Amino acid sequence: MIDRPVALVTGGSRGIGRAVSIELGRLGHAVVVNYATRPEAAHEVASQILSLGAPAITVQADVGLSSDRNRLVEQALKHFGRVDVLVNNAGITSVGRRDILEATEESWDQVFATNLKGPFFLTQLVAREMIRLIRAGNLSGGKIINISSVSAYAVSTNRADYCMTKAALAMMTKLFAVRLAEENIQVFEICPGVIATDMTAPVKEKYDRLIAEGLWPIRRWGQPEDVARAVAAIVQDAFSFSTGMRLDIDGGFHIRVL
Ligand code: NAP
Repeated sequence: MIDRPVALVTGGSRGIGRAVSIELGRLGHAVVVNYATRPEAAHEVASQILSLGAPAITVQADVGLSSDRNRLVEQALKHFGRVDVLVNNAGITSVGRRDILEATEESWDQVFATNLKGPFFLTQLVAREMIRLIRAGNLSGGKIINISSVSAYAVSTNRADYCMTKAALAMMTKLFAVRLAEENIQVFEICPGVIATDMTAPVKEKYDRLIAEGLWPIRRWGQPEDVARAVAAIVQDAFSFSTGMRLDIDGGFHIRVL
């Protein structure tokens, strides 16, 4: 078993997951960089982590598929022997961003599999392994971090499935937080606002305008590194007496203003 903490980051190859993976590597974690379709992006992240002096592997797995989730965790354990941190980051937006009256079952199935079913059953799988390792005296505790979204509470009628998965992730965080507290595993929700990644690139002009108009108090785009810094705070035990907590990394978007 490796003698440093191990982090598994789903969708660790691009955007927020990429920044999180690199930050965890910088903090000395061994990182399992998961991706779905683009190996070259994942390999680039892994080589950056290696150049920071931390071990990293890439594992292709679709988090929506049970067999892939099993293989992902098997690979992590085979290479490093432990998982201390799980970041449920992989996510997709609503396919075609259709109005709720035109929304399709195809988009629903894809978005729910990736954004909700995947994180739920991966958390279950990883938590069981963490408990096994903790009880054997091989791990002091675990941390599970779910990347939700302001879409958990802010309505976008052209992304109904996406919004519903993110709202459910908030409840999922609380459910696992309560169940896993006695096992010394903390569970957190990070709730990002609008972050500059490939996901938001198609709506860049819209948000450029809304940001300039003051849609949230801190008038700039969020950056993947803003989210990575929140993950860093959690893994460095900044919140040692907290669980089920939501961290708003959103420029103040969640504040209602009159
Ligand atoms: P992104 O740039 O589109 O990157 C998505 C990442 O997830 C990629 O690494 C992708 O891998 C991976 N992925 C997609 N489907 C997957 C699957 N089925 N299994 C495993 N990996 C999969 O997205 P992002 O903007 O960084 O978003 C990351 C997370 O933050 C998502 O959960 C998103 O909902 C959330 N979020 C984003 C924003 C934002 O404004 N960007 C705001 C709030 C919340 P491949 O490239 O290999 O397909």
